[in-house]
Amino acid sequence: MLLAVGSELTTGETRDTNSGDLARSLSDAGVEVLWISALPDRLATVAAAIGEALAAADLVVTTGGLGPTPDDLTREAIAEVLEECPAVDPELAGWLRHLFERRRLPFAKTNLKQAWLIPSATAIPNERGTAPGWWVDRPDGRVVVALPGPPPEISPMWRDWVLPRLHERGLGQERITRTYRLAGIGESIVAARLGEGLLRAENPTVATYARADAVDVRISAVAQAGRGPAELVEEAEAAVLAAVGDHVWGRDDETWQAVLGRQFAERGWTAALVEVGTGGSTTRLLGEAAWLLSARTLAADDPTRPLPPLAERVREEAGASIGVAVRAVETGEDTRVDLAVVGPWGISEASQTAFLGGEEGRRRAALAAAALLHRLAKEH
Ligand code: ATP
Ligand code: MG
Repeated sequence: MLLAVGSELTTGETRDTNSGDLARSLSDAGVEVLWISALPDRLATVAAAIGEALAAADLVVTTGGLGPTPDDLTREAIAEVLEECPAVDPELAGWLRHLFERRRLPFAKTNLKQAWLIPSATAIPNERGTAPGWWVDRPDGRVVVALPGPPPEISPMWRDWVLPRLHERGLGQERITRTYRLAGIGESIVAARLGEGLLRAENPTVATYARADAVDVRISAVAQAGRGPAELVEEAEAAVLAAVGDHVWGRDDETWQAVLGRQFAERGWTAALVEVGTGGSTTRLLGEAAWLLSARTLAADDPTRPLPPLAERVREEAGASIGVAVRAVETGEDTRVDLAVVGPWGISEASQTAFLGGEEGRRRAALAAAALLHRLAKEH
């Protein structure tokens, strides 16, 4: 359970990135995060949330609210829930005073709050700030971890101090995750093809995500009933590939740039690109690829002009092995995407409709071009 404390979060001034970072790390370690909350600097609210979280989870991690000012009240809230009394820890107080001396800063009494401990808490050293964290052991084995707010302070505390101790406790189990990246198919059709059985299963889990550059299908498993996570993932993988394998273009965190780059390198191909009415979206998607010898963006013109001659011309001019022409034509609320690729095999043409206009439609044109290049490279 992750609780981010701070009114700057509930007012939207600061984005809660801490919880997401910790959730990622916990998931990788095989810990299921039950929920994530952001809370204002109000003692009653924070205490209630900690109490509720402790009732439901083995581990509660808070971030923020460990500073010296009265509105930093995470320590008070934990103490209240556990019915313990905070007291200044002499060792921490000494460390804190030393820190201020070294920086030649006057030591205000309010700072002593950062040297507080409760009997069941151990201080988590903070090498980058003045607020140590708390590791609190409950008699039933549950753990509360309180970390400060600033991300640069949290990351070494979490990585070098908290995570190793959580591992010692045997919290969580190895989780294996595999993602397949799809093109040319909508998320709802992917879901329909996968079917309820796969999508509702709890281990392995199979889930779909509509991302900017792909529909992702993510498979994830932990060991169960004597079977390892790898075996369980493989089994689900086979079912996923049988259902939507024809649309897969990449795996895990691969990008179009990486996948096309690999395909072109394997074949020794180079390309020249011309795009029309797309605002340069294809060039942006492909990035500064070594195999892309030239890229040119033209304003929209006659939407019926045949594209192959255009592709052929840029190919010749650049001395590339293939020429690519992409055109986006807005048709009311939709965008028509025309594609032509001229290569050693001849001319390939395609036309499709993206059910989106404007910027989104132009972005879809780039994705359609990338998907066509991927398919042609596979075929030749
Ligand atoms: P400090 O001793 O620095 O005051 P603190 O434990 O009191 O630490 P906060 O005052 O709650 O922490 O937050 C300090 C700063 O850390 C915030 O101003 C913000 O920039 C950052 N921060 C706090 N919470 C988060 C969060 N959930 N996600 C990202 N950044 C955060
Ligand atoms: Mg603070």
